[in-house]
Amino acid sequence: MFAAHTSIGYLSTKLALKYSSHQEMRNKAYFFGVLGSVFPDIDLFWFYSLGQRAVHHHNYITHKPLAWLLIIIPVITYLLVKKSKWSIVAICFFGNVMLHIITDTIVGNIHWLWPFVKGGTTLVAVTTRHDFWVYNFLDHWTFNIEIGIILFTLYILIKSISKSSIDSKI
Ligand SMILES: [Zn+2]
Repeated sequence: MFAAHTSIGYLSTKLALKYSSHQEMRNKAYFFGVLGSVFPDIDLFWFYSLGQRAVHHHNYITHKPLAWLLIIIPVITYLLVKKSKWSIVAICFFGNVMLHIITDTIVGNIHWLWPFVKGGTTLVAVTTRHDFWVYNFLDHWTFNIEIGIILFTLYILIKSISKSSIDSKI
């Protein structure tokens, strides 16, 4: 995935909040949910600086699903057992980290079974047709799906904003 991570972060957080009893954590859940949706790409700072673009950033630990699960499972289990109000925030953040990695698998190479198996999985290969790598993704048919997700998110967002402004006038 290239551009729709934050859209998926917003939509999935909205869906999670629908089933949460901790509505007082709503703003924090949206903040950390959307942050989680782009968080694995924090490795790009390393990739473009000290990493000197030597290996693809999907090879870094921030894009390794099993490494994340080692953190996610105990943290979310602990918060749920404690019936903490922070559980919804953690679910939104970590859930979106995993959604990021799942959607990166569509056109990016993700090492799902690392450290047990070398090599990764890509569902659809993007062929190199342009010198600048970004154009290869923008020119690929999967980018149309991303545009669809972004437009759908804008529609939901505008609907939510207009509904809340009508509710505040009543
Ligand atoms: Zn990524």
